[in-house]
Amino acid sequence: MDNKLREELAAWLEFYRDLGIEDFYLPPGSGVAVASHERKESAPPVAAVSRGPAGAEAGRPSDSAPGRAGPAPTERRPTAGPPARSLSLFEAPPPPRREHETLEQVRRDLGDCRRCRLAGGRKTIVFGQGNPHAELVFVGEGPGADEDEQGLPFVGRAGQLLNRMIQFVGMKREEVYICNIVKCRPPGNRTPEKDEIDTCSPFLFRQIEAIRPRLVCCLGAPAMKTLLGIKEGITRVRGQFFDYGATKAFVAYHPAYILRNPREEKILREDFETIREFLKSAR
Ligand code: SF4
Repeated sequence: MDNKLREELAAWLEFYRDLGIEDFYLPPGSGVAVASHERKESAPPVAAVSRGPAGAEAGRPSDSAPGRAGPAPTERRPTAGPPARSLSLFEAPPPPRREHETLEQVRRDLGDCRRCRLAGGRKTIVFGQGNPHAELVFVGEGPGADEDEQGLPFVGRAGQLLNRMIQFVGMKREEVYICNIVKCRPPGNRTPEKDEIDTCSPFLFRQIEAIRPRLVCCLGAPAMKTLLGIKEGITRVRGQFFDYGATKAFVAYHPAYILRNPREEKILREDFETIREFLKSAR
């Protein structure tokens, strides 16, 4: 394979990996590789897996990455008419190689987002707040009323508790980065639904990739499931570290849960002590 072809192939593979597609198959007799999300039913079974950097929720449809460059999700839905043709990797010019994104670029791409139904009830998009080069990132569930009002994450009572825990770790709030798996307030503060998470979470993955922290702390079960694909109950998993791409992830209770169950605050302190020790040892 000559160098130009090799570079084109690398650019395409990188493009598909950014979309969360990592598996390809070779249709018998076709001689061209096809991305697994485009396979026909008769093709050999391939695990079409869309994931965050560390293998977040397996089995999520691969067209759930609207925040990525490339075709909008609607363009990939089955339509009436002739069957969709599988695309060869080499039928179109390769996409430009994407350099390391900044948070500003991700925010610009999000724009005045209306990609899911949560846009209908929000006042403000709560993108995230903090140090764009933070070594510690906290990921919660979604904005509440106070956050929606102010456009900032974790500013209500749960935010005050998180602030105390951040101080307990020996840091200031402005030194860490705080965001949520969905950027718009779910009505009545309900838990975000799967399709809403699927639509919004690619922006979260990109935020983390832009920051490249040492540790991502999942606050609560929805963040844990979204980032790590863990289906077990959080009570069995909290206080543990997991691989998340080149970095580590940690699972802790959401501060709002602690406010409802104050007897558990001891556990939250223990978990933040673990975070403190991890960051000390990583320095
Ligand atoms: S929750 Fe996310 S995907 Fe849905 S409208 Fe808000 S920013 Fe867009």
